Amino acid sequence: MIEVRNLRKQFGSNVVLKDISLTVEKGSVVAMIGPSGSGKSTLLRCLNLLTIPDGGHIRVGDHAVTFDGTAACLPGDRKLAEYRANTGMVFQHFNLFPHMTAVQNVMEGLVTVRRQPKPQAREKALELLARVGLAAHAEQYPNKLSGGQKQRVAIARALAMQPQVMLFDEATSALDPELVGEVLNVMKALADEGMTMMLVTHEIAFAREVADQVIFMRDGVVVESGPPAQVIESPHEAATRSFLARFN
Ligand code: ATP
Ligand code: MG
Repeated sequence: MIEVRNLRKQFGSNVVLKDISLTVEKGSVVAMIGPSGSGKSTLLRCLNLLTIPDGGHIRVGDHAVTFDGTAACLPGDRKLAEYRANTGMVFQHFNLFPHMTAVQNVMEGLVTVRRQPKPQAREKALELLARVGLAAHAEQYPNKLSGGQKQRVAIARALAMQPQVMLFDEATSALDPELVGEVLNVMKALADEGMTMMLVTHEIAFAREVADQVIFMRDGVVVESGPPAQVIESPHEAATRSFLARFN
């Protein structure tokens, strides 16, 4: 479902992604772990084309892009919007539109990108809010919602576009501890329904439970990857062992 080949990205002289290649099978969950600055967010942002790689190739479902370091390799505006909608992204800081209610946030992409009539988009949005346990909060503005509720709205908003993959960048890192569980539960339910997911997380126990594959990144390279039982419990590499030691 996701294929990354020889992906490279640098900011000035700082080489952040060094020839990354990986594959994510349809319906599988990949958890990315690694120290701060290792390139995890940059990799997810490249998959969503929020950051444009300098070289390499990405395929997400039906959409493929080969990068040549110029903007010319990108699809046109309309196709770019479709590409992004197909790779639903959830951020640490929610990024909801503050001037829109929960239901308006969720229906926005259906109306602007998918050009659906508003009543139909609204119906779909209400259905998704119910699915993340927020039927009663549809008319609330984000500043009236808890962090966990905001994050669930953000997940519903991404799901509204019927993406082929979902990308989560530390979706629970900004939450008070008592709100983490409600968001992880929604993510777990999505995984159980067969959504292809790639997530960056510091929730090692969650990665152990939900991921099919764990990738350990450091300094812009994949140091090791494999089933959670191997990477988390008996890592081959010393760098992985010393990173995981902080969570014990
Ligand atoms: P964290 O765990 O702290 O979120 P990360 O693994 O997600 O870290 P990235 O955010 O991908 O790391 O950053 C990797 C490197 O790229 C860092 O050195 C960072 O300073 C640099 N970087 C990221 N985005 C930019 C940018 N827009 N401009 C310049 N440098 C950037
Ligand atoms: Mg990050």
